[in-house]
Amino acid sequence: MSRVSAFVRQGLCVIAIATPAAAQRGGGPPVVVDPAASIDITVRPVRNGSPDVQYAEIREHIVRSAGVTNADFAVRVPGGPPGIAAPAGLDIVEMVDPQGTVPVKADSGNTRRWRAQRAVTFPVTVTFRARMWPPGTRTNPSYMLRTADGAVSGQGSGILVFPEDGVDYAARFHWDLSDLAPGSITTSGLTDDNDVRAPLSTLSMNFFMAGPLNRYPATGDRDGFAAYWHGTPPWDAPKSMTWVASMYEYMRTFWGETSPRRYRVMGRMLPPPAFGGTALPNHFIFNAPAGPRDTAETGPLLLLAHETGHLFVRGLQNPGGGGPSNNWFTEGLNEYYAVSLALRSGLAPLDLVFQQMNFQTRNYYTNPRRNMPADSIARTSPLTDGRAYTASYERGLLFWADMDARIRAASNGRRNLDSIMLPLIKRARTLGGDGDANNGARPGGHPGWFTPAELVDSLAKAGGPEVRQVFDSVIVRGKTLVPAANAFGPCFELRPTKLPDRYGGTSDARAQASSTPVPEIDAYLWFRVPSVPDSRCRKW
Ligand SMILES: [Zn+2]
Repeated sequence: MSRVSAFVRQGLCVIAIATPAAAQRGGGPPVVVDPAASIDITVRPVRNGSPDVQYAEIREHIVRSAGVTNADFAVRVPGGPPGIAAPAGLDIVEMVDPQGTVPVKADSGNTRRWRAQRAVTFPVTVTFRARMWPPGTRTNPSYMLRTADGAVSGQGSGILVFPEDGVDYAARFHWDLSDLAPGSITTSGLTDDNDVRAPLSTLSMNFFMAGPLNRYPATGDRDGFAAYWHGTPPWDAPKSMTWVASMYEYMRTFWGETSPRRYRVMGRMLPPPAFGGTALPNHFIFNAPAGPRDTAETGPLLLLAHETGHLFVRGLQNPGGGGPSNNWFTEGLNEYYAVSLALRSGLAPLDLVFQQMNFQTRNYYTNPRRNMPADSIARTSPLTDGRAYTASYERGLLFWADMDARIRAASNGRRNLDSIMLPLIKRARTLGGDGDANNGARPGGHPGWFTPAELVDSLAKAGGPEVRQVFDSVIVRGKTLVPAANAFGPCFELRPTKLPDRYGGTSDARAQASSTPVPEIDAYLWFRVPSVPDSRCRKW
């Protein structure tokens, strides 16, 4: 039996849903249409003789139609780590227009918004020297600019300067690689070329990576798939990237996607603590701790499966339409299918899947936010309340496993959750484009996307009328769920047990946990049924 990876237990993933354009549609500032609006962005990582990048020089040349002026021009700059003062010379905005240097000042109370102190005439050039987030600071959500191994990466929203003028500029992004190691290469969610062209709002929802990167496969792609990473984890990185390519192919087949699409995985091995991943359209990035080789470590396979799953399980409205967050569905259903398909595909070691089932189940019954309704969770941020955020994953794994068991029971085993979800998601993908990340932010979603009410109707039709009540009590109102004991097939059984009342589902909670004994609570965990052989665990 392989030893279970320590990293799989740290798999918080975040799927970002709001873009500047989406926010504008949702009642923000009006969208300004200017066909001549363009922005040329250069990011130059500066090492200054150090092994790692010290800061990044961002230069943006902002063009509008001839003669356009702006009496109150402001830009939003990427944020540095909270509570850590910027070193001298960094986090400073400089602005130039045809009249010369434009005085700029950070708004009081918002150090990320810098405002021109006079009217500007376009074109305007903005430069900004952005800090790296240092070792030991938060790694997920993974938007922030990071460096290790002489490489650099971040999400557009976390590394670019955005004009706050309601214009969605046609943008061109490229790295200036002159101070990175010779042979450095680049990738992004959109292209591997060092010339990324897309609307600025699209760039904001895109990860960029540059430096001396490893790559799988060495050249080209495998049915659209390629992975890039830097650094050395304790596990066999090329083997894990081959594994996620196989999971990508398995999931594509499972969800009925016949033509491969471009898909990119980016990994950054950072000094511990480093954990979690973030999925964006057609790519994801993950963070894992660098460390000495340990042949027993399998790598964060369940995290990689979860992130890959976001390619297919995308946004849905809150039940009742109460807001744009789709966490209850996007993370909950995705976590269920990540675990279930890791098991059913035969790709993941059995004990790894078993451990993830119990990790989430233990966290569910010890999570102080276990009974939070879906719409309350939707209003929390993983930055401020990680327990509320992870509650959706924990609850989702158990809820959807229970739905599967209910549908099987109601149909004498002829149907299961796949029978409901496969056609719904296929229809959504076919009619609704690629299920992009904005979906959850749009009332009603894409044309083909189903609503929570349609989903519940389908579940109730297949699983019986009590499904509506279970959905309403567990998802909508947050009532504690005890799923069917056989919801993960004949090999595993849910049994009552006692657990120390201590939550360990987020890195913050683990860091804060004291060793002082705590009372035990009534809970449930999965147990391996010893009489059932391993060969029967993957299909039921
Ligand atoms: Zn996720």
